[in-house]
Amino acid sequence: MEPQTLTTRRVLVARPRGYCAGVDRAVEAVEKALEQYGAPIYVRKQIVHNTHVVRTLEAKGAIFVEETEEVPEGEIVVFSAHGVSPAVHDQAKRRQLRTIDATCPLVTKVHNEAKRFANQDYDILLIGHEGHEEVEGTAGEAPDHIQLVDGLDGVGKVQVRDPERLVWLSQTTLSVDETTETVTRLRERFPNLLDPPSDDICYATQNRQVAVKEIAAEAQLVIVVGSNNSSNSVRLVEVAKDAGADASYLVDNASFIKEEWLDGVTTVGVTSGASVPEELVDQVLAYLAERGYGDVRQVESVHESVRFALPHELRKDLRASV
Ligand code: SF4
Repeated sequence: MEPQTLTTRRVLVARPRGYCAGVDRAVEAVEKALEQYGAPIYVRKQIVHNTHVVRTLEAKGAIFVEETEEVPEGEIVVFSAHGVSPAVHDQAKRRQLRTIDATCPLVTKVHNEAKRFANQDYDILLIGHEGHEEVEGTAGEAPDHIQLVDGLDGVGKVQVRDPERLVWLSQTTLSVDETTETVTRLRERFPNLLDPPSDDICYATQNRQVAVKEIAAEAQLVIVVGSNNSSNSVRLVEVAKDAGADASYLVDNASFIKEEWLDGVTTVGVTSGASVPEELVDQVLAYLAERGYGDVRQVESVHESVRFALPHELRKDLRASV
């Protein structure tokens, strides 16, 4: 084999990658709340699942808590992009907290579907990862009607009251292919299982998976920038491997990359999860450039232009102060 030269090394960067509209809105909501009301602003759970974003907001005066009980009475609390159950809204009311709900509108859509099907007395099979905040929030909308199906292994455990009155919904950040497989298996058991009215896996999750597939087909290594509690980022690693990459790793930032991953690699794919700021991708590209991977090509699979308005509680106060 020819010895590797600098010119044979290249980087394919997936587009779209990084921030989605829901993350952009949630992070901006905390920033604007800090500007409008001053520090501290409390945030229940990580506003988005990214360590760098959380640390940056902490430095500006945000205080992250696990539960509303930790927020002093009367203070402002922001609910994260992953959404909360009605029980959490009630707790906040009891403590007289001022709330800013940064739940992504696409998560709210799934909550509304859950409420609607529960009102019609359907059993709801919620495909998602046990313990994930979004799943807890959605399940909390109708705990008596919802059961969690955590991947293919969960299919055999499902018990329903009436197989004719059954619908599936899902977490927004799952693997499209794996969820399709889970639904196929569920339908083998329950042929009259109803589909959600529209896709629950959000546009951003789907687009980032389409984009990573395109680069993975040509890359020996795919580096996914994202935190390990970020569901959509973890899914990108799995999708990259399934799409043909020899190896794929999740890294919080460039300092987590291991030199040996690059051994014999001529094409590196790079992408990032929906909660990852672009500066972290830039640092990865700089790391690669220092090692001879200076030929960087953007590979655009889907054009994105989705934007969401800030939470209305905040917009009202921002307007009033102009
Ligand atoms: Fe909303 Fe999807 Fe982004 Fe989650 S990943 S915040 S559901 S757009």
